[in-house]
Amino acid sequence: MPEAVPVSLSERLESVNEREDNNTALIVHPQRRQSWVWRALGVAGLAVLVAPLISVASWLVPGEAPIDPTNYALRTRRVLQSTPLIDGHNDLPWLLRIELQNRIYDGRFDPTQRLLGHTDINRMKQGLMGGQFWSVHVHCDKAQKHFEDPSWLVRDTLEQIDVAKRFIAEYPDIFTYCTTPSCVRKAFKSGKISSMLGIEGGHQLGGSIAAIRQAYDLGVRYITTTHNCNNAWATSASTVAAGGEDPGLTAFGAAYVREMNRLGMMLDLSHVSHQTMRDVLSLTQAPIIFSHSGAFSITPHLRNVPDDVLRGVRRNGGIVMAVFVNRFLNMKDPSAVTIHDVVDHIWHLAEVAGWEHVGLGSDFSGTPHTPAGLEDVSKFPDLVELLMARGATDDQIRLLVGENLLRVWADIERRGQEVRAEGSRPVEDEWEGRKWHTHYRSSPYMYRSTRERAIREEWGEPNQFSVGKSGKHEQKVVKADEDI
Ligand SMILES: [Zn+2]
Repeated sequence: MPEAVPVSLSERLESVNEREDNNTALIVHPQRRQSWVWRALGVAGLAVLVAPLISVASWLVPGEAPIDPTNYALRTRRVLQSTPLIDGHNDLPWLLRIELQNRIYDGRFDPTQRLLGHTDINRMKQGLMGGQFWSVHVHCDKAQKHFEDPSWLVRDTLEQIDVAKRFIAEYPDIFTYCTTPSCVRKAFKSGKISSMLGIEGGHQLGGSIAAIRQAYDLGVRYITTTHNCNNAWATSASTVAAGGEDPGLTAFGAAYVREMNRLGMMLDLSHVSHQTMRDVLSLTQAPIIFSHSGAFSITPHLRNVPDDVLRGVRRNGGIVMAVFVNRFLNMKDPSAVTIHDVVDHIWHLAEVAGWEHVGLGSDFSGTPHTPAGLEDVSKFPDLVELLMARGATDDQIRLLVGENLLRVWADIERRGQEVRAEGSRPVEDEWEGRKWHTHYRSSPYMYRSTRERAIREEWGEPNQFSVGKSGKHEQKVVKADEDI
């Protein structure tokens, strides 16, 4: 059975009405002498106005006719018409890269038509979607043995941000690009699908905190701390699944958490190891998110969230958005996975973390296999109906589909504002293995000590970094331009 929501929306509505009641009472002019008849009439009138709002059942939208609570299709439609359903993770931009090399204007790409795969505009509309976090993903670079080795990762991530934004902008009647929760609500009111960006892995930023700030400035609003490889900040679940150690967050990772908190950027713990989850929860000053993960005690895949972490998320005020990837939902027989497995995972997440801390994070267009009955973005309403049939109230569904994410995002933004207001400046920490270009003899140095050192050590040639034939990180000496 679901846990009772500590404060349901209808209870909140009641308390608002009560407050409004009190306010109304306060503005009745006390000096003016009114006969008790008028006063009684006034109170009775107010009661007539307010009573229907107070007595409204959780499944009944105010102002609308009562409906049969077992009419799940109608209830779903009503809920999703008044609350934006926001999915936490869709990898369509990755397909734009690998199938189209990011060319979306040459006539081949038309998402208004039925596409193969899981995502196109008509099916998003059928799915009554109100918002989407598009993942700007680039996979780990296997050739990169050392976090410092030169790589295409940051360039390709910039390209993914670019193509996702161009895709969103190309369909202005459908999508609205958003970087704030208030934009999401506004877009929903005007019938648009808000579109946000998330980076799926710290490797995509070269382990650089300065690069996080620039990603934020470019409009990215969450960073998945790791993907399927360790990085300068943290250990990934895949490393541990492959038999590796789980040291969790690195010392430099603590600086990453600090900067994410300061920026007011959503820190995503999907894909990280369990120790990393625990380390971040013990350090963070703001709520965290899981953009696409399941429940570990239902399916013991290391990508899923264990119960102690779910309880930590409840205390932290964050959110776990349920994933639809078959192998995370049933490790023994992924091909047998159905929409009911997703219901089981969501139910467990809600029971342990609370209905105020769950959401939806499909991984559509990123995973090859999806559950039977939940094949693509058009099927979100079917999932909602099944949750209702299992006993979820309309209020709980509103929280799950979008209200929780919007609250968590706004809380993270607010916390960032507070941290910045306290005078906290951008974090300047660097990974301990970081190397810097030096060694120009003739640079117009700012400090006498550097100039003296350059002469003493006979600097003269700048160095660059390279991966040698051995695959090891090396310094490659290039010829200096003596006129520099
Ligand atoms: Zn993923």
